[in-house]
Amino acid sequence: MRTGDQTLVKEWNQAIALDLLRSRGPVSRAELAQLSGINKATVSNIVEEWLALGLAEEIGPGPSSVGRPPMLIRFNPRAGFAVGIEIEVDGLRGVLTDLDGQPVYREQVAAADLADVARAVARLHDLIAALLRAAPQAPLGVLGIGIGVPGLVNFDAGVVQNAPNLHWRDVPLRDIVTGAWPYAVYVDNEANAGALGEKWLGAGMDADSLVYISASTGIGAGIVLGRDLVRGAGGLAGEFGHMVIDVNGEACSCGGRGCLEVYASLTSCLRRYQARRGERVDADTYFARLAAGDADAVAAMRETGEYLGIGITNIVHGLNPERVILGNRLADGGDVLLAAVERVLMTRSFAQPYFRTTVSLGRLGRDACAIGAASLALQAYFALPRTE
Ligand SMILES: [Zn+2]
Repeated sequence: MRTGDQTLVKEWNQAIALDLLRSRGPVSRAELAQLSGINKATVSNIVEEWLALGLAEEIGPGPSSVGRPPMLIRFNPRAGFAVGIEIEVDGLRGVLTDLDGQPVYREQVAAADLADVARAVARLHDLIAALLRAAPQAPLGVLGIGIGVPGLVNFDAGVVQNAPNLHWRDVPLRDIVTGAWPYAVYVDNEANAGALGEKWLGAGMDADSLVYISASTGIGAGIVLGRDLVRGAGGLAGEFGHMVIDVNGEACSCGGRGCLEVYASLTSCLRRYQARRGERVDADTYFARLAAGDADAVAAMRETGEYLGIGITNIVHGLNPERVILGNRLADGGDVLLAAVERVLMTRSFAQPYFRTTVSLGRLGRDACAIGAASLALQAYFALPRTE
């Protein structure tokens, strides 16, 4: 075997063992060897490295049927941290997470001037600085910074290609942030990040495949298969907001017509409410009225949910994911939204008895994108080494 191969085998063994420790721990060294198929001597060496790094800790002897009880080892999620940030149209939302993706600190910045890239970057740096200040001392320190952006992102290049609601074009955000901070930086579409957040820590933890629908001003979606995002050849995968549901329909911000987001976004829900009441209200007022049982607010949400249900029926026919998760601002419509979506899905699909897709509300609420952005950094740290 060549030296390169040996290094790769060592990295694989470490990654597999660490993954098992995180998902199955606390475990003994012998159990870890058995679960991973790695020999005991190698496992012992790996564990010694973890203990030295602070990535794992011994927590005392476990139960034993015969002989000396084995020492149990558990993963230490506070050995390091990650920064996750969501850039929204009207502000920034940040979290500092531990190695399990659990938020340990949150900070929000309201800002109306994010269309100006230089100002947005200045605010982003302020938020990163605040999140880093909040990071406790830890052996691995901060592993990286993830950023979710509402737009089309070239993930490999770290470039925001087109964010229509922010009016950004070709912004090399990763290089900008990397130039200011000594950390690995990951930039992805906000719905992709949200999908990863719900997969990592929320409503998709037990699903092998999921589609996360981020419905707010517009509609985006993230597709996760196994543990990985499906980005598509050009980063376009999941742009279901621009799936045409009415060939001769209304004009969309993308330049097309009859796109799903024209009928099923929060913007369209507010428009329906306004049409019923002859009164323009902001999202906070609308949701307060919905929560209070305002009949027009309920009707507007129900109708919006029916359109979203049409879009989701198309998604289920195309991808048949195990779970569809409703997230971002429109998901504050809660059970009214969910029931409308489910009703349409159950009656519009010929395959309904067979498809086994379930729809649920996200579990992370508005934190999904920021947590998912942080998990981009965590995932890179815990990933199996690349073989190509
Ligand atoms: Zn469109």
